[in-house]
Amino acid sequence: MNDCVFCKIINREIPSEIVFENEKIIVFKDINPKTEIHLLIVPKKHIANINEIKEEDKELIAEMFWVVKQIAHQLNIIEQGYKLVFNVGRGAGQLIDHIHLHLLSGSFNRSLKEI
Ligand code: AMP
Repeated sequence: MNDCVFCKIINREIPSEIVFENEKIIVFKDINPKTEIHLLIVPKKHIANINEIKEEDKELIAEMFWVVKQIAHQLNIIEQGYKLVFNVGRGAGQLIDHIHLHLLSGSFNRSLKEI
């Protein structure tokens, strides 16, 4: 997608702080972090959101969670815990129409607990 910010990050057309990458998934730091650790787990395939996944994407979605587990171990946040959030649609606060999973960890304040 030509005008998709996350596709541009994947294609290295705009910079980002990438913390993990394999052939299907990229993980980078959110540019406007809501807490100490705020990462975005993003499939390289352009899919707008969960409503748009097809049966053929099931493995890719599972891979996103598998990557989360590796990263949680690397960041040593298994004990303190972390939150995973998909915003699906404008009404839920989705601003970027390229499927992404937020990983949030840190000192959870009241508002973060209510996400
Ligand atoms: P959402 O509201 O679920 O669509 O989340 C989009 C997220 O992408 C927000 O938390 C933004 O801060 C983040 N974001 C937008 N542009 C960039 C960028 N260029 N690099 C990293 N994160 C971004």
